[in-house]
Amino acid sequence: MADRRAVIMGAGITGVLVARELLLAGWEVTVLEAKHVGAGSSSRTAAGIRQQFSTPGTVRGMRYSVGFYQRFAEEVEDGTCPIVQNGYLFLHADQRRWEQAKQTAAMQRDAGLTEVEVLEHADLRARFPWVGPEAALGATHCPTDGFLLPHLVYNEGARRVRELGGALLQTAPVTEATLQADRVVAVKTPKGTFEGDLFVDCTNAWTHRLAAILDAQPLEVCPYKRYIWFLQRDGPMTAQQLSTMPLTITPQGTYVRPENEDTLMMGRKHVAEPELGFAYEDQDHIDTRFSHSGGVDAWPFELWMELSEVVPSVAEFAGIQATTGGYYAETPDHNPFLGYDRQRANLVRLVGFSGHGAMMGPFTAKIALSLCEAGADVDSVEVDGAAVSLDAFRIGRDLSKRERMVI
Ligand SMILES: Cc1cc2nc3c(=O)[nH]c(=O)nc-3n(C[C@H](O)[C@H](O)[C@H](O)COP(=O)(O)OP(=O)(O)OC[C@H]3O[C@@H](n4cnc5c(N)ncnc54)[C@H](O)[C@@H]3O)c2cc1C
Repeated sequence: MADRRAVIMGAGITGVLVARELLLAGWEVTVLEAKHVGAGSSSRTAAGIRQQFSTPGTVRGMRYSVGFYQRFAEEVEDGTCPIVQNGYLFLHADQRRWEQAKQTAAMQRDAGLTEVEVLEHADLRARFPWVGPEAALGATHCPTDGFLLPHLVYNEGARRVRELGGALLQTAPVTEATLQADRVVAVKTPKGTFEGDLFVDCTNAWTHRLAAILDAQPLEVCPYKRYIWFLQRDGPMTAQQLSTMPLTITPQGTYVRPENEDTLMMGRKHVAEPELGFAYEDQDHIDTRFSHSGGVDAWPFELWMELSEVVPSVAEFAGIQATTGGYYAETPDHNPFLGYDRQRANLVRLVGFSGHGAMMGPFTAKIALSLCEAGADVDSVEVDGAAVSLDAFRIGRDLSKRERMVI
């Protein structure tokens, strides 16, 4: 096993799926988690999964992720499939954006997403009659997209890591490191010191702090608070209609999806300040302006009213029942950093997932295995027989070219 001992820091969706992938390839793996499995954004996510992206490489990568999550049902102890393929519907009300969306759908089809559909207004209304008549010019829809059951991914992922012979320690924050020349030799936690040949940073929103401990490169990853709200069904929308709804993005940028047959999840990015030093408890802190109990002047009520213009039956829902919060670890171009650190030669960084780390998890794990096996950055990985360039994820890339389809 010499040279193949990996120490993975962070046990969210990324950390456990990377650990599983390395174990299956014969690596000896130790996962160190500061709190508990899923303590970060993996347990606070809307967990939407879509293949509708603006670059062919990401479309192919997310296609791989969808296939992985379907197959992962075989590894879940009770066989539950962790992906709910209700589809993903992007509504468009602006003519210029709608034309652009149709061109993007053509590119997605060329990249292998053959099932993506362009629904002009009449088709949209026929397929999804709950969309208001004036709400959109049209929509793109991909029926194999949807959302994940994130707890199944990280909990069953962690169970698989142990089943495959990996060590996974909780309440084991990395607090110090032994460094030699440009390499990490060992990391220290309250549960012991762990040596490795390779170290993998899966701490996402905490990556700045880990980088300081490892004297690694500070990356452009900023934590921003994000909220999700839960609305209770009432009025004419039936349980059947709600539970089969695709994840829907309104022209204004609000996203909604069923949480269960009586509850609609709603989210929307707001203008926020970066919070580099946030505490674990801050994830659960709900600012009154963003709380379901913040009164009718609070933002979620404004969003609920706005949503009612797009999905009129939602106006008759019983109310907003709950709010949850977490952090996006955002990069300037909304793509993660997946590659070797420039200061620590045996440190792989897999961080900065912005709003799409849950869906990227399997693709990230595939890339991580290539990186670990190569011992250096790689130009591409093979997905379904096609080479997918990793330029968009390279550390040190030009950050001015942004992923356009971000939520
Ligand atoms: C409101 C919201 C909505 C979202 N919606 C979506 C969506 O629709 N689709 C999607 O794909 N993604 C979505 N995301 C993003 C997604 O949840 C994340 O990108 C993903 O969960 C990242 O997983 P991770 O494992 O990389 O990071 P995390 O789950 O944050 O895990 C990092 C782990 O590192 C641990 N850690 C930190 N420091 C140390 C240390 N020193 N030593 C050891 N361990 C340490 C933490 O305790 C934590 O458990 C959303 C996020 C939020 C907050």
